[in-house]
Amino acid sequence: MRKVRLHDTLTGELTELRPGDGRKVGIYACGPTVYGRIHVGNARPYVVFSLLARFLAHEGYEPVLVANITDINDKIYDAARPAGRPSGELAAEMTDHYIADTDRLELGRPDHEPRATLMVGEIVELIAELIERDHAYVADGDVYFRVRSLPEYGALSHRDVDQMDQGEGIEGAERKEDPLDFALWKAQKPMEDTAWDSPWGRGRPGWHIECSAMAEAVLGAPLEIHGGGNDLIFPHHENEAAQTLAARGKPLAQIWMHNGMLQMGAEKMAKSVGNIRPLAEVLDEVGRDALIWFFCEGHYRQPLAFTPERLKDAERRIARIRDTGRRLVPGASPEALAAHRDAFFDALADDYNTPRALAALAEWINEANRAGSPIGDGHLREMLSVLGLDNLLERDEGPPAEVVELAERRAAARTNRDFAAADRLRDELRARGWEVRDGPAGPELVPIGP
Ligand SMILES: [Zn+2]
Repeated sequence: MRKVRLHDTLTGELTELRPGDGRKVGIYACGPTVYGRIHVGNARPYVVFSLLARFLAHEGYEPVLVANITDINDKIYDAARPAGRPSGELAAEMTDHYIADTDRLELGRPDHEPRATLMVGEIVELIAELIERDHAYVADGDVYFRVRSLPEYGALSHRDVDQMDQGEGIEGAERKEDPLDFALWKAQKPMEDTAWDSPWGRGRPGWHIECSAMAEAVLGAPLEIHGGGNDLIFPHHENEAAQTLAARGKPLAQIWMHNGMLQMGAEKMAKSVGNIRPLAEVLDEVGRDALIWFFCEGHYRQPLAFTPERLKDAERRIARIRDTGRRLVPGASPEALAAHRDAFFDALADDYNTPRALAALAEWINEANRAGSPIGDGHLREMLSVLGLDNLLERDEGPPAEVVELAERRAAARTNRDFAAADRLRDELRARGWEVRDGPAGPELVPIGP
């Protein structure tokens, strides 16, 4: 079991991971607000934290990954209203899309995916505790967190309290004791079609308190790693940290781990900027293997440029690994190559440095390709499995089921003269290392050779 160090946003330092309870590592990664299809930028934390859990399991830890689904939120009301749809129906539909879209990454599901709508009881209990301890107050059916009651407030985001804006605009301004305070519970408004009972009247929770309550309910506090995009540090995570500390007298997380944004040109990819690429569309284009490789080429803390060149490069590297895999034999790898395998895992233990790990993997591939006779694939399989890419070593027992399905969809598209769809499916087949060729018995699927 390697010592694992991760950068902690709170202290700004590399911090050794110390499981509080045996080997269990609770990871809570903030998930999507389900008001639209997720974009490829939203998939970055999904991939980073799913793969981090795989790596920790490889090292002998027992990770428990929790990724919540925010299905009560202003954005959902705002999206459902103009569409003339019940907000609960929109949230349920987008939750199904989120599950289906991320399933296509084939990284498995998080261990728990709590939904705010199913945890209102826990949320109400946490708010009641904050009121009891004078860290929150009721105002006309709303409940607000009293920010200046907590001296530690601002520590996570390293901001001066007087320079903060909760982003709540004028909403509730006349009911707040201090403009700095933020909403824990909001009384139902005429335009809102869902509400829950509480001691303060019918209404619904604020976004920040949902996560504090769900994280604690599933993992207990303090949990080991709280993650999410670095756009969530303030106010979302600052407020989560404050709520749990104020209510329970203990921190919510040992390590706060934040991933950088996916960049389109000079800007982050975001619905609010209007430059998003849906995850499903990108998966149609390049397939999950290349997309996962693309994400791993960037260090999780850095911004990552989403460009066609980088995706192409990822496809080439994936193809190279498949080629090498065909020249390997099942079994143990030569000890002479172990240093590269060790360097791969050491890099992941050092603030989850995937670019350095991929460089070590490339060194292993180079040496394997130089070997005169076929060598065992053991090391490569071990490294790839931690990246969710051990499927690249599947051998020629015929195409996997999803490839056959893609080929069938492509054939159907051609029959329907939908050539754009047929071309897209052909590209997706290629990204998975297969192409359709005309054989003596009609079209057949063949692996793309070296
Ligand atoms: Zn959250």
